[in-house]
Amino acid sequence: MKLEEVLDRIEKPLRLEIKLGFRDRAAVGGIERYVSEWVEKALKLDLEDQTRGMLEGLRSSVEGYSGLDANRRKAHIDRAIELIGRIRKRETSKIQPLLFDWQAASRDKAESDEDRVELSFPPADEDPSVLEHLLRPPLAVKGIGPKRSGLLAAQLGITSILDMLEYFPAGYLDRSRIKRIYDVGRSGEPETVQGKVVSVTQFTSRKSGRRIVKVVIFDETGLASLVGFGRFGEFLERALKIGDHLVVSGRFKRAFNEIQTSDFEFEMLSDEEAELIHTGRIVPKYRLAGPITQRNMRYMMRLVLDQFLNLVPEHLPMEMRRRLRLMDRRSAIRNIHFPESHGHLRQARRRLIFDELFLIQLGLALRKRRVESTGGISFNVNGPLLERFLESLPFKLTSAQRRVIEEIRSDMSKPHPMNRLIQGDVGSGKTVVAAAALVIAVENGYQGAMMAPTEILATQHFNTLDRLLRPLDVKVVMLRGEMRSSERRAALEAIRSGEAQVVVGTHALIQEGVEFNRLGLVITDEQHRFGVLQRAALKGKGFSSPDVLVMTATPIPRTLALTVYGDLDLSLIDELPPGRRKVKTFWVSEDKREEMYEFIRREVLAGRQAYVIYPLVEESEKLEDIKAATEMAEKLQNEVFPDLRVGLLHGRLRPQEKDEVMMAFKAGEIDILVSTTVVEVGVDVPNASVMVIEHAERFGLAQLHQLRGRVGRSAYQSYCFLIANPKSEEARRRVEVMVSSNDGFEIAEADMEIRGPGELMGTRQSGMPDLKLANLLRDADLLALARKEAQKLAEADPELKKAEHRMLREIIRKVWRENLEMMAIG
Ligand code: ADP
Ligand code: MG
Repeated sequence: MKLEEVLDRIEKPLRLEIKLGFRDRAAVGGIERYVSEWVEKALKLDLEDQTRGMLEGLRSSVEGYSGLDANRRKAHIDRAIELIGRIRKRETSKIQPLLFDWQAASRDKAESDEDRVELSFPPADEDPSVLEHLLRPPLAVKGIGPKRSGLLAAQLGITSILDMLEYFPAGYLDRSRIKRIYDVGRSGEPETVQGKVVSVTQFTSRKSGRRIVKVVIFDETGLASLVGFGRFGEFLERALKIGDHLVVSGRFKRAFNEIQTSDFEFEMLSDEEAELIHTGRIVPKYRLAGPITQRNMRYMMRLVLDQFLNLVPEHLPMEMRRRLRLMDRRSAIRNIHFPESHGHLRQARRRLIFDELFLIQLGLALRKRRVESTGGISFNVNGPLLERFLESLPFKLTSAQRRVIEEIRSDMSKPHPMNRLIQGDVGSGKTVVAAAALVIAVENGYQGAMMAPTEILATQHFNTLDRLLRPLDVKVVMLRGEMRSSERRAALEAIRSGEAQVVVGTHALIQEGVEFNRLGLVITDEQHRFGVLQRAALKGKGFSSPDVLVMTATPIPRTLALTVYGDLDLSLIDELPPGRRKVKTFWVSEDKREEMYEFIRREVLAGRQAYVIYPLVEESEKLEDIKAATEMAEKLQNEVFPDLRVGLLHGRLRPQEKDEVMMAFKAGEIDILVSTTVVEVGVDVPNASVMVIEHAERFGLAQLHQLRGRVGRSAYQSYCFLIANPKSEEARRRVEVMVSSNDGFEIAEADMEIRGPGELMGTRQSGMPDLKLANLLRDADLLALARKEAQKLAEADPELKKAEHRMLREIIRKVWRENLEMMAIG
């Protein structure tokens, strides 16, 4: 059974249910059970995760159906039908094999081709000076003049021959996937044909009165009709004219004596590309801009390869390539541009992806070795203070918390600095774990510093830590950005004298003028906002070599963590304190706003509290944004909830005002808190059970997940309402992911799929080289391999001194640029 059929089966009774007036009569056993059973069947099919998520969403859209009143039932059925439509659309939009990706290519073809790729293993190059040639501008290529050289630089940022060689195709045109029109339309599967437009006609359907546009294409073997309705039809009529070359992918049918499709995608080809389709080659397509054409680019690439390919250095040791069966780099570069076969393309990609990942991993491995070889503090981790602290906790630690505390203990006892990242979803209880580490530092006569990205968070950490540690006679001091100067002097003095044992603050902590007495441990919360730079600054400020603990609730997929934080040890708090319930998330349209307000009122009357979030950029909040939030708060207070207490929090408030509002909310003196994203991370008000996010489409997934994490921090059922009107496909998908998943890691992976890995963690600012080909989700296997090899090599030749590693050393320097302390090798 195909997904399509299942969707049809589900949709029919839903439509019937509408006709029958929502009496839950349309399916035997009730709508809920019926839908659930069919969704169950669908989930057995081979589907993408995204589609699975949507199917789950479909199932939950009719959950509890029989218990709803007619109005609600209608809403739920509407939503279910809408979802079915979207699943269908998603499924069909996947058939787009024209600009095919290597995945498709390798799946279909490479297995059989593979054996025919003969690999050779020339020795590694040892003379780094060849790199100089490759750093010359494209102008140095015979046949590329100043004009085109200038265009390459201006339009594509290509300023050297090396850039050019590494300007990899975005996709390929492949003749072998194209079928003859004569042969399609029998399988019901997506198929691809190619042909010339022979007519474009439009008429009006007698039945529906809709305008229909019909485009007929011809390929020597037959005619195929492309049918477009409404807007899409108008678009076809405008876009296409007789004689245009098209490649069309779609589901073709044989009906009314013709081969036709109304479910298709197409791409227009230049004459030249249409020619190439008949050459039997795999042809590269580049991401281009400005007046450079594909033809130009291919031509120039050929010139570069002809003249410079033999200068491309091989930087991997021969032994490694032989063992891992990696194509030599020269062949890889040649084949990534002009593949001899699918098998060659696959091998080329494998090699080049390996290179990208390996160079990063090697850089990280070398750095890690360096940290490990520096002397650090060897703490006594078995003292009585830690015992007392753990016993004094008002709750039982989760086993994940206990495990991570053990890992920290083990790190801190070692004679080299700890460098550990703790990942734990929002609400997993990272603060206590941090406190345990601080206690160890204090018990050993050292100071501990805890830094957070915002004042509100720092204040909250201060309050929590003070509450936890004061009974143990540990002095916790907070350093604020805005303090009266006498206060500030006193705080600074306490830090300098060592009287302050634990110091909490924001970035201010590592700014000028803060001098510690004996800093032994640095903890940063949500460090992705801190960035590697600050971490380095802190370490470089004459502090000996404090242990470093990084905490983040941003769920970083493991593969990405290995890349970005490959030099840190990873701990995972993968368990929430007991009794937590999943936050129920809904996508709310504007017309359901009143209903939602009613819901909030009921929650508040039951004793709960609510957040209403406005999307603003923290710290740089603009006045008009503030105005929108302020107006929202006023409207809610005066018109919607005159009987409830509405508060307002935004970035332009003075720190003290912010604190006051937060405190009031925490104390239950505010029922509904309208806020900008300043509550995004870490704020802990367990009694809040409703999170409303206005303009949810403007937020990124990570941020939405963070915001939602503000609720669901107690045993009360919590709710998240996303008010969204997404204008782009991407925004829509984000909202859908939020509705369908509660799991931070799943969301992070979806995020990576939607946006690509680079943006997720701001790898750029971390000094990490860009990834051109590697996809951390897809290439997890190669990543693991690259990591293992890198560690082995860093172990065997930490200075990269051997002759066969000489080129590698040069390349890695270049790749990592002169990044901070990163590459102090050699
Ligand atoms: P995170 O920083 O990981 O988002 P917090 O450290 O703020 O989470 O903890 C969230 C809430 O859970 C706090 O109110 C905290 O007191 C509580 N908490 C932490 N650990 C436990 C536990 N083991 N059992 C019960 N509650 C816990
Ligand atoms: Mg926290």
